[in-house]
Amino acid sequence: MTPNSFGPALMARLDQLADFSDVPGTVTRLYLSSSYVAATGLVANWMTKAGMSVRIDPLGTIIGRVEGRTPGLPALVLGSHIDSVRDAGRFDGTLGVLSAIAAVEALQGTHQDRPFAIEIMAFGDEENVRFPSYLLSSRAVVGEVTADELDVRDPDGISVRDALIAGGFAPDRLSDAARPASDLLAYVELHIEQGPVLEQEGLALGVVTAINGRVRYDVTVTGFAGHAGTVPMAMRRDALAATAEMIVTAEAIARGLDGIVSTVGTLSVHPGAANVIPGSTQFTLDVRSGSNTQRDAAAATICAALEDVARKRSVELQMSTTYRSSATPLSQSVVAALAKTVERLGHPVRLLSSGAGHDAMAMANICPSGMFFLRCKDGVSHNPAESITVEDADLAVRALVDVIANFDPEALFPRG
Ligand SMILES: [Zn+2]
Repeated sequence: MTPNSFGPALMARLDQLADFSDVPGTVTRLYLSSSYVAATGLVANWMTKAGMSVRIDPLGTIIGRVEGRTPGLPALVLGSHIDSVRDAGRFDGTLGVLSAIAAVEALQGTHQDRPFAIEIMAFGDEENVRFPSYLLSSRAVVGEVTADELDVRDPDGISVRDALIAGGFAPDRLSDAARPASDLLAYVELHIEQGPVLEQEGLALGVVTAINGRVRYDVTVTGFAGHAGTVPMAMRRDALAATAEMIVTAEAIARGLDGIVSTVGTLSVHPGAANVIPGSTQFTLDVRSGSNTQRDAAAATICAALEDVARKRSVELQMSTTYRSSATPLSQSVVAALAKTVERLGHPVRLLSSGAGHDAMAMANICPSGMFFLRCKDGVSHNPAESITVEDADLAVRALVDVIANFDPEALFPRG
């Protein structure tokens, strides 16, 4: 295997898949759209070419499989997703699927020697854009999706169920998507980092130890609206000025804590006129960490500090939790196996946690799971400017080839 023997071919396929878009000239491949359905055909063809048998499950997940020494052995699963956000880049999700296909193809002829099968799963509904749903395809594999979750509708009133039927899938057989845990040995997902850490440190590959949990609040600050010309400064209860102090306070606290990120991503001001002192504001506060305890402690510190600001400025503060998800620690044995791969490829091992959600969060509920991050230019994702180098694309395939070639089910579940 000469360096960069895989990069150009992988980049060409990523370009080809990017052409499957709901909006020509962009990459917009929403779950179960016509371009998504068409893309499943292309990806299935590539799996077939790699020597895999291919089926598409009731939720539209494409599953390729090669048998090991004997048919029906439990599988090492590689995967990621092929849906995208609107006006996306061409690597988010697709990189993990197509590099896995290239790795299996590269190992053709050796599969019959292995004490395990290999599967590749190409999921949809990872980006959570079209429907108010959440990781439907990977959660269906885990057996966590209930039939009523398929009733949620997109803004055009089309339900997941209707979209599945229109795409030629079989939502009535939802339960067939669920796999027994005994089928699956481990899940490995390779994904662009979607952040700048690896690039800044001059590293191509990282190993993910956990996927951050998050807590999100809706915050309302109520002061008192008044005339911008007549109310003296000392007598004001300016909700927006108080909010500004709250935002920088939350930022300062998060900056001082390791492994915590905190974001105010929306803000509305009422009544919102140039000559009126703001009477109230609403904003969102999102706090994330790879550890639930750390996240809850940081969130409590931030909330207490916001209350201090509110008291000092005589405004009222109301906070309600709108979303909370647990951090997903990834399997220590899979993390160790992936770290060994990075070493064998001659790179320093960098462990990091993921700030974004991934299908691995669902898969971790059924089998030991791990992730590689591959560096991306400027850490940019969910944007047409998303970019990786052809050398890194090559490395992605070599990493997955190494994972498969050295995968040891016994090391994963030591018998004792
Ligand atoms: Zn993704």
